[in-house]
Amino acid sequence: AKYVYDFTEGNRNLKDLLGGKGANLAEMTNLGLPVPPGFTITTDACRHYLAAGVVPDGLDQEVAEHLDALEKQMGRRLGQADDPLLVSVRSGAKFSMPGMMETVLNIGLNDESVHGLAKQAGGNDRFAWDSYRRLIQMFGKTVLGIDGDLFEHALDALKGKRQDTDLDAGELQGLVETFKGIVHEQTGKDFPTDPREQMRLAVMAVFDSWNAPRAILYRRQERIPADLGTAVNIVAMVFGNVGNDSGTGVAFTRDPGTGTQGIYGDYLQNAQGEDVVAGIRNTIPLEELERIDKRSYDELLGIMETLENHYRDLCDIEFTIERGKLWMLQTRVGKRTAAAAFCIATQLVDQGLITLDEAVTRVTGDQLAQLMFPRFDGGADKKKIAKGMNASPGAAVGKAVFSSERAVELSEQGEDVILVRRETNPDDLAGMIAAKGILTSRGGKTSHAAVVARGMGKTCVCGAEELEVSTSEGRFTAPGGVVVSEGDVISIDGTSGEIYLGEVPVVDSAVVEYFEGAEPQDELVKAVDRIMSHADSVRRLGVRANADTPDDAARARRFGGQGIGLCRTEHMFLGERRQLVEDLVLASTDEARQAALDALEPLQKADFTEIFRAMDGNPVTIRLIDPPLHEFLPDIVDLSVKVATDGATDKDRRLLAAVKRLHEQNPMLGLRGVRLGLVIPGLFAMQVRAIAQAAKEVPGARPEIMIPLVAAVQELESVREEAAKILAETGVEALIGTMIEVPRAALTAAQIAEAAEFFSFGTNDLTQMTWGFSRDDVESAFFSRYLDQGIFGVSPFETLDREGVGRLIRIAVEEGRSTRPDLHLGICGEHGGDPDSVHFCHDVGLDYVSCSPFRIPVARLEAGRAAL
Ligand code: PEP
Ligand code: MG
Repeated sequence: AKYVYDFTEGNRNLKDLLGGKGANLAEMTNLGLPVPPGFTITTDACRHYLAAGVVPDGLDQEVAEHLDALEKQMGRRLGQADDPLLVSVRSGAKFSMPGMMETVLNIGLNDESVHGLAKQAGGNDRFAWDSYRRLIQMFGKTVLGIDGDLFEHALDALKGKRQDTDLDAGELQGLVETFKGIVHEQTGKDFPTDPREQMRLAVMAVFDSWNAPRAILYRRQERIPADLGTAVNIVAMVFGNVGNDSGTGVAFTRDPGTGTQGIYGDYLQNAQGEDVVAGIRNTIPLEELERIDKRSYDELLGIMETLENHYRDLCDIEFTIERGKLWMLQTRVGKRTAAAAFCIATQLVDQGLITLDEAVTRVTGDQLAQLMFPRFDGGADKKKIAKGMNASPGAAVGKAVFSSERAVELSEQGEDVILVRRETNPDDLAGMIAAKGILTSRGGKTSHAAVVARGMGKTCVCGAEELEVSTSEGRFTAPGGVVVSEGDVISIDGTSGEIYLGEVPVVDSAVVEYFEGAEPQDELVKAVDRIMSHADSVRRLGVRANADTPDDAARARRFGGQGIGLCRTEHMFLGERRQLVEDLVLASTDEARQAALDALEPLQKADFTEIFRAMDGNPVTIRLIDPPLHEFLPDIVDLSVKVATDGATDKDRRLLAAVKRLHEQNPMLGLRGVRLGLVIPGLFAMQVRAIAQAAKEVPGARPEIMIPLVAAVQELESVREEAAKILAETGVEALIGTMIEVPRAALTAAQIAEAAEFFSFGTNDLTQMTWGFSRDDVESAFFSRYLDQGIFGVSPFETLDREGVGRLIRIAVEEGRSTRPDLHLGICGEHGGDPDSVHFCHDVGLDYVSCSPFRIPVARLEAGRAAL
């Protein structure tokens, strides 16, 4: 194996092997830019070292050969007493992990070569001793594991009120002695003076820093795989700390906040790299370098242009000027805000550097989502009182209220409210609609509150366990004894999960106004418009909406939805109609049951008519009722208490008997979906009749009837027959299909497709049943620990689990189409709006994804990206 690459041997495509820094140093070297010579030890070597505890065979030899070559090229030997070559040893993984891993500068200095370095710099003793003390400080901390504060305190004590640049050579020489003393005291050994030994130890320390706790934590947060390892770059030192004709800086080729072209960067005179980041002295804006050193400044601007044209993207760079000579120490395609990503992508198209196809791949659905939510004004003062889970993004401000009724009441009076509950249930729906935001102290990202809030595009923070919510007393307590009572104003940030006391100013999203129909005005919205249009023109996947109200349907159309992929009908049975549902369940005679159904039918018909109108000739997939019964019947405990008291009516007693009869230990695995339809005669027929009648009233209506929770074709067949008969009688055409949300349905898809004209994957239930994870409980129960321990990188309820659930989907797609080649395929679980899952749906060959109206633009964009 080859473990070491000279900068002249690598290129930017070798990031896996050389890390980002090494690959880009090689790329710049090959572009002829002024990069100090050096070489890179591969991530392969690091992985070997981390696994085996020793460096791989042959590495030492290869490093020695490259060092020899470097010494020849530089005309100096590492640490040579009278004229030393010094090197830096720098970490550099495939993905940038800013400040997480280690770097050691000035390797090769010792009590002899420090004089040689002074001579090299024209008798500059101060510079040489400053470099030496930096070496001991960095080496001590990084390689020897000594507490960095010990060095910092010694430096501070010496400086007093002065700056580090005010220390003279004699003082710095004294500091070197102090630092050596610290090393001896802390390790029992002398600071190593052999230059090659220094280098060898530093390389291993960089390898080891891959597994430093902060690096592990960072990778987990950023979802960077734990087994990549880091490369190590050994680079001939150039010095920014020789004097005022030297310095070091960082720059961007354009503004990473907005994308605007211009000069963006910071410069620090007479300093070495780490000083800029450490904030040891105040930097100056890069423009001022023009005044200090015009030649270097002009050269730098030229190089930045070269880099942008070469990388065809925003780059960030690190550079050093040594006595008027500019050196490039690093470049990479730079991080940027969501807004800048869109603007830069279209700017580069206009400059002819990239195509529109590429522009679509340069932005992400997550970035688009960030632009769609109102935000808190970043500069505003805030008093944070707690943090929960960021369940549905956005920024909401309002008076805290503790019941759905209060939320409705106050909002009708024109007040903004935040609904605060321990957790929510379907009865809170009205309050949730009325509220600006929802805050719960229990439940995870797929809890009722979270799912419903996301569906409505409403800000939600859930599972804020630090809060003690007492709905009966109308208040909650936050850590530190903060008490918030009904009417007190709070602000919640659904993007970060933070909760603030008082009002934090909010800025609206111009991007949402554009999706709602406003003409694109500013640069950002125009960029979004161009990229979205292009994504639409290249995508193969259709995008539909999960919508069950005319308002949602209309919004879905405005946002580019091409139909409804899931209209849940159980929501239409809540509120005032709940009584009718109770009657239906309680009915002890055929007549009583029929009476309840007859009462519901015209109401259902009106619901469907409005939705067909809003959808304007686009397909509407209506799912027949799927209510877990515990969500629809009164609470068994409440009812028992009521029946035990004197005021109880006969009806209460009958209701309790029914509730007891229907009570289930696992309602989500119980009498719901098609099972309920088969058990309560006439229920599904009533819904199908209402659909057919409504369709007759709206010209161009395209209903599709969807049967939920089917596990066996036998369940589907009888429902299908009955529905087909009603359709035939009314003369309405509609596809009849099923959800695939029980693993058995996926596994028997070939049979099920005999009775289904379409499949829609209900990946919420399919995930629940494949993993055996209760979708309502696990996120608050233990997922946070799974995520902390790295067992999960992401919840399978958020991003589709390709290996397990995805495998079932593949099987169902393949076998379903084998029975019925024109089987229409979609997805309507929460995953339909998740970027990674949209790519999966494209790959597996679905026809469309369906998601909440607010996520439609994200799905359109990601479907476009998936097709490129
Ligand atoms: C599903 O299970 O994925 C689905 C869309 O149905 P529901 O969430 O209503 O159970
Ligand atoms: Mg379901």
